[in-house]
Amino acid sequence: MSNRCAAVIAAGGSGSRFGGANAKQFQMFLGRPMLIWSVETLLAHEAIGRVVVAAPPDRQAETAAILPNDPRLLIVAGGASRTASVLAGLEALADFAPDKVLIHDAARPGLSAGVIDELVAALDQADAACPALPMTDALKETLPGGALRTVDRTRHVRMQTPQAFRFPIILEACRNVGRKAGDAPVDDLALLEGAGTPVALTPGRPELMKITHAEDLALAERLIGGSAMRIGSGFDVHAFEPGDGVMLCGVKIPHTAKLKGHSDADVAWHALTDAILGALAAGDIGDHFPPSDPQWKGAASIVFLKHAADLATSRGWRIVNADVTVICERPKVSPHRDAMRASTAEVLGLSPDCISVKATTTEKLGFTGRGEGIAAQAVVSLAR
Ligand code: MG
Repeated sequence: MSNRCAAVIAAGGSGSRFGGANAKQFQMFLGRPMLIWSVETLLAHEAIGRVVVAAPPDRQAETAAILPNDPRLLIVAGGASRTASVLAGLEALADFAPDKVLIHDAARPGLSAGVIDELVAALDQADAACPALPMTDALKETLPGGALRTVDRTRHVRMQTPQAFRFPIILEACRNVGRKAGDAPVDDLALLEGAGTPVALTPGRPELMKITHAEDLALAERLIGGSAMRIGSGFDVHAFEPGDGVMLCGVKIPHTAKLKGHSDADVAWHALTDAILGALAAGDIGDHFPPSDPQWKGAASIVFLKHAADLATSRGWRIVNADVTVICERPKVSPHRDAMRASTAEVLGLSPDCISVKATTTEKLGFTGRGEGIAAQAVVSLAR
């Protein structure tokens, strides 16, 4: 058989157990909507030729807007049930005609290339495969009246996703469920249980946990984000010269002077750019954009910041949060803080919740105290 492989992500649910107005697949996870994590991991895997996201029917445009623009990615309207959403995703793969399909929950952002490798390989020997975790706690059945009965835990496993199938088998099983009313299978593997189909078990992973309740978020962020991280710091100074305003974090703030510099002299974004480059151990802003190079004269500093952020992405890092401190007597920064946070968050593709902008004076001491210029410092953290 050939080895065409695709993936369907079920992201059509409202996440009623999660609480809050926003469905969990759109909740921020390590600074980005949860759904993005699995989509990116699947698109980055060489075995996966097509990814279909079954999104809530009323949020398809929003879903497209947050996901990468990739011709291998399709967004379809999910159905009223999980199985209906999965079926919509499978039907959308008809023209691609994969041999294997991985069906994944949007609420499991900890998907990794290793999990995909193991599932794709397992399907060479079996019609279905799934990552599973052993039961490590004692397992008991609760009986009426409050008594317990011990269950042999060695005969039980906890199933995760993606659940992987030979494509024609799961397509047929999903279509059959669609024809019956009132079925609510617990997962996609349940559709094959009646037929007694053997399932290859691949190793489950703690970080592949499902985010069901709001309190699961912090645990998953620690498991996934905490596994590898970096911190960078940046510092920059620009002097004042005659003018009518300063550029700070991409926001023009009226003032009786401007900042002197080769570019637009956005001292805050320069510090932040250096912080990102520092976390990557990739030199400093002057290495990437030499002041001697005329093409950067008058450049908008968004170019520098975007370059550093893209470099982080290309090296497999994501920016988790940034904290920028502007040091000057004037202009007064606080009225512009939220605009500065928003513009920075937009460039970095993060929620403004992940961007801090603070300001301080130096009590009239030193060059900032004498009003000769503005200094800025920034700290940023990156995660794999
Ligand atoms: Mg500078």
